[in-house]
Amino acid sequence: MKRIYLDNNATTPLDNEVKQAIIETLDMYGNPSSHYELGRIARDKIEEARANIATFINASPDEIIFTSCGSESNNIVMKSMLCGQKCCPSSKIRSPKKFITSTIEHPAVLETAKLLACESVETVFVSVDKYGLVNEEELEKEINKGADLVSIMYANNEVGTIQPIKQFAQIAHKKGLLFHTDAVQVPAKLKIDVKDLDIDYLSLSGHKMYAPKGVGILYTKKGNTLCPLISGGHQEKGLRAGTENTIGIIAMGKAAEIAKRDQEQEIKKVKYLRDKLETGLLERIPKSFINGHPTLRVPNTLNISFSFIEGEAILYMLDHAGIEVSTGSACSSGSLDPSHVLTAMQTNTEHMHSSIRMSLGKYNTEEEVDYVLEVFPSIIEKLRKMSPFS
Ligand code: PLP
Repeated sequence: MKRIYLDNNATTPLDNEVKQAIIETLDMYGNPSSHYELGRIARDKIEEARANIATFINASPDEIIFTSCGSESNNIVMKSMLCGQKCCPSSKIRSPKKFITSTIEHPAVLETAKLLACESVETVFVSVDKYGLVNEEELEKEINKGADLVSIMYANNEVGTIQPIKQFAQIAHKKGLLFHTDAVQVPAKLKIDVKDLDIDYLSLSGHKMYAPKGVGILYTKKGNTLCPLISGGHQEKGLRAGTENTIGIIAMGKAAEIAKRDQEQEIKKVKYLRDKLETGLLERIPKSFINGHPTLRVPNTLNISFSFIEGEAILYMLDHAGIEVSTGSACSSGSLDPSHVLTAMQTNTEHMHSSIRMSLGKYNTEEEVDYVLEVFPSIIEKLRKMSPFS
């Protein structure tokens, strides 16, 4: 049976051109730090990838640090607070007092924030409204009380809500705070321009932008030095030791080049398909509800709840019909706890338990959406017939 993949927020398939770039690189084993031909070839390829990524987000190549994933990029920025100027004289983050974030961040930020709290950093979680938008008044109030670092995600992985990052960064900068955004869910969905946003740090992950798993980047605005999370060699200007993942880096550079080239068209296509799916489901299935912002939402994401049934049951039946979706975030699936994002949005309990997330990507087609619209209503009908609540 043909599988229909609607879980691109969990991970994206490998782009065909990226796959080709990887194949061409497989025999390139030189260590990029070596001062002979094989080393130089690897180094040149890494710098080419760095330049592509810089162009993609409107940064300078020397502001791009390669990491292993989005989680690591987030960790470097946040844990720099613990090291601060004590061990790293050049670090921008001074003796840490306070870290501000939101209640709907990815666990890579939320769990790391808990670790900061264990180390006596005051950690504040700003609330969100029913659409998942961060409460700006509350954020400004916390910023005005004084802090060191603010981290607010650009787009949420579960419901897709987009935050006014530029505005938030301005509020933080007015008080001299540094601003980080987890933009892992943004490539190929929104244009990223770090200069326009005027932010200090930004995290990206390869496997959310059609590159493989095992590579990420951290944008660090010139002058905003951090402490290394992995110390050792001089790689990545001493900020991230360890021999570079040459193949992953080249793949991510290629993915950024492709995204820059194709993103405008892809965004239009994915939005058309997502909107068709959304309108079609709402029209065909009574008592269905969208979670997330009606308009300030990344164009590929549809988080939807259906009264009287469980999300897990829907997922199981869709899987049986060849359709792959998720309930809540992939990281928390497997747990029966309701999603922390929907909880923070004060979604009603019934909708929380019946929510599923469908996230489209550039390889989805209109025929796939038509097939989903054909089979979905009967699945919900069948489950509702079995439900003691309907
Ligand atoms: N941040 C967000 C918003 C994410 O969606 C994810 C992954 O789902 C991450 C961070 C973690 O990225 P990685 O899997 O590359 O560590």
